[in-house]
Amino acid sequence: MNKKQSNKFVGAHCSASGGVFNAVTNAQKIGAKAFALFTKNQRQWVAKDLDADTIDKFKRALDDSGILPKHVLPHDSYLINLGHPETEKLEKSREAFIDELNRCNQLGLDRLNFHPGSHLKLISEDESLAIVSESINIALDKTSVVKAVIENTAGQGTNLGYTFEQLAQIIDKVEDKSRVGICIDTCHMFVSGYDIRTRQTYDKTWDDFANIVGFKYLMGMHINDSKPPLGSKKDRHHSLGKGEIGLDAFGFIMNDERMNDIPLILETIDDTIWKDEIELLYSLES
Ligand SMILES: [Zn+2]
Ligand SMILES: [Zn+2]
Repeated sequence: MNKKQSNKFVGAHCSASGGVFNAVTNAQKIGAKAFALFTKNQRQWVAKDLDADTIDKFKRALDDSGILPKHVLPHDSYLINLGHPETEKLEKSREAFIDELNRCNQLGLDRLNFHPGSHLKLISEDESLAIVSESINIALDKTSVVKAVIENTAGQGTNLGYTFEQLAQIIDKVEDKSRVGICIDTCHMFVSGYDIRTRQTYDKTWDDFANIVGFKYLMGMHINDSKPPLGSKKDRHHSLGKGEIGLDAFGFIMNDERMNDIPLILETIDDTIWKDEIELLYSLES
């Protein structure tokens, strides 16, 4: 399929239903070279600890698949809000986040993707962003190895992290910068106002990213087209080429060496065509 050895690692957010090791099998079924997963039910606060057998099965499956741990991008629970204005709920989120980091470490993985948080209109954006940084500092202090990878958001509701400046603001207050990173979701980027549809707009947007955040922090991407238009701040993903972004942008990404060697994860809406979408992305490489 590929003319030369590709430096791109494309996959999708795979189901871990029945056990985290199933995510590896599901990734292989669609020809993925990377994948994302939830290491626990994403809509519940508590989960039972990963047992030795499950951990062993996951590590063996991953080893057999040839997918490297750094190309696996686990996503944390949707319930967690590391910028929560209320102490009790913030504590609960921090505890759950630490548990998520530990689970990744147990599975031999090195990064955890999360949405920064929401101010819920109770405090200012700046105050909430500072709480996010503090949460990261606390969590990194109590765990080891695994990097906290902040995802840019669509800016829907009171969700923070929808501008490069906000992402930089969070990183700025993180003490151990070797354990913090960024995951850019192309749909979120686009609906929050960053155009990538033409060569010119793509270059401008990533120049801004380079200047404001820095590519050394880019540790993963979510590859999604968008149903809503540019700047709409609505988070609704679409299949590649079927939304408002269009295929050109994904071709630019597949030929951009700054996106080499990081997990490029589909979260597009139709999982029955993920295999085709992965092939499509690789076909865009020149
Ligand atoms: Zn995403
Ligand atoms: Zn999204």
